Amino acid sequence: MKYDVFNEEHEQFRVQLRRFLADRVTPHAAEWERNRQIPRQIWQEMGQLGFLGFCYDPAYGGVGADDLFRVVMSEEMARCSAGGFGVAVCAHNDMSTTYIDLLGTHEQKLRWLKPCTAGEKVCAIAVSEPGAGSDVAGIATRAERKGDHYVIEGQKTFITNGYYGDILVTAVKTDTKAVPPHKGISLIVVEKGMKGVTARKLEKIGGHASDTAEIFFDQVEVPVEHLLGAEGQAFYAIMKNFQLERLVATILAVSFAQHILELTMDHAKQRVAFGKPIAKFQAVRHKLAEMATAIELNRALSYQCAVQYAKGEDVTKEISMLKYASAEMVNRVAYDATQLFGGYGYMAEYEVARLYADLRAVTIAGGTTEIMKDIVGRLMGL
Ligand SMILES: Cc1cc2nc3c(=O)[nH]c(=O)nc-3n(C[C@H](O)[C@H](O)[C@H](O)COP(=O)(O)OP(=O)(O)OC[C@H]3O[C@@H](n4cnc5c(N)ncnc54)[C@H](O)[C@@H]3O)c2cc1C
Repeated sequence: MKYDVFNEEHEQFRVQLRRFLADRVTPHAAEWERNRQIPRQIWQEMGQLGFLGFCYDPAYGGVGADDLFRVVMSEEMARCSAGGFGVAVCAHNDMSTTYIDLLGTHEQKLRWLKPCTAGEKVCAIAVSEPGAGSDVAGIATRAERKGDHYVIEGQKTFITNGYYGDILVTAVKTDTKAVPPHKGISLIVVEKGMKGVTARKLEKIGGHASDTAEIFFDQVEVPVEHLLGAEGQAFYAIMKNFQLERLVATILAVSFAQHILELTMDHAKQRVAFGKPIAKFQAVRHKLAEMATAIELNRALSYQCAVQYAKGEDVTKEISMLKYASAEMVNRVAYDATQLFGGYGYMAEYEVARLYADLRAVTIAGGTTEIMKDIVGRLMGL
């Protein structure tokens, strides 16, 4: 179906990005998966070509692009043959630098946002902890003010870009007695080289190109100038940016599902069993039709949400619906695709098998299916 969402500039951006990804990313994605790392040079190339931080002000290296460019970016990421790359770039572009843009002073943006837009620095958002993921207000990492410094003590986990990245936008409790507890949360920029910061790389079941880390803060002294926004106000910024994060996650889910459908259709047309291509069997055709239907339904609502989000409208309920519906949908599509590939679908050298593992995370990361349903229920007045 043709949608009237993108203008000529969006489409030009898509053409350039698609060419870059086809030349510089897709041919190397399997190697990066094996090495569990995206080369720094790729970040720099993306920065130079304007594929990072494009929504930010020109003073910080962007071009003030609208949020629909983020949608184009996420859609194209799904063609890279490995889920981890898209997740790492979106974590940098849409989930972490966004806080520096939203809350930072001019000096802070020059110091941290500009190098991130240039691809010289890689950014991460560190909220989740071993004892608190869904329950953001329950974080325990503490930042105690001592003169012109904060002293941070605590631990984060599951942090995308947390091992090879440079800048950690870190959620901390600056007031452990605040009532309600979310009022004591602040965001502080921690640079990876700071004394007392250590990271351990986590081994995942998929998305290997993207590094995910556990991070330890042992009496880390951070100058007060690293505080983003007002002390104790970060919870609202986190909840606000979650809408963008979840919208991007939805676009990724729909686009990965589309990519998997295309791979599966090609396979079903070529694979012969009982004397004919398996696509000619009604059971297979119906399965492919169900996949296409589920994708199109999710795409239609995600585009509508993206347009309204880009206009500044509150679509929290619809984004929460989409986040879980599209995440569950892409997992079902990946499952069915694996089945239609038969034994090949279980072999790691096949893209569909890799994507099956990569995409398992999307019902968990950025807000679980259960939490999304809870938000929807609450916004229905229940
Ligand atoms: C690949 C990956 C990348 C990630 N990247 C980042 C990152 O960059 N930065 C970051 O900060 N975090 C990141 N996360 C963490 C992610 O946001 C959390 O894993 C997620 O929010 C869930 O938190 P949890 O793991 O602590 O699970 P829990 O909150 O312990 O939940 C466990 C189970 O209980 C359910 N549950 C919890 N509360 C309720 C409730 N009220 N009602 C019903 N069910 C409930 C959940 O839905 C889930 O099924 C990442 C996670 C993954 C897997």
